[in-house]
Amino acid sequence: MESTFSSASEGHMATIVEYSAEKRARNEYPKRIISPPSPSECCSMHMKRIGEMQVEGEGQRFYYKRCTRCGFTVREFVLNVELDRLRAVELAEWNRAASWIDLLRRESQVEKAA
Ligand SMILES: [Zn+2]
Repeated sequence: MESTFSSASEGHMATIVEYSAEKRARNEYPKRIISPPSPSECCSMHMKRIGEMQVEGEGQRFYYKRCTRCGFTVREFVLNVELDRLRAVELAEWNRAASWIDLLRRESQVEKAA
């Protein structure tokens, strides 16, 4: 039964994070990161992003985030929803520029008419 369990967990996404209560927390990014098995109070204030955005499997994007105090590390997934929101902001910027150009054009027409 035990071997069935371990082969089932092999299907999980690859991670460089090793959770261990015995080993000391260590940051050897991008090779590996040793993290305590659970977060502490410090983690809410001291999580810092490590390295570049990673892309995995079916286009899932994530960053590694590590607590600078205790070394607790998690993967923070960047949801596609957030990327869509970023694109929406860019579009809004572009629309504002376009309406500004439109305004200039109209003003120059007024000058010609006068
Ligand atoms: Zn911490």
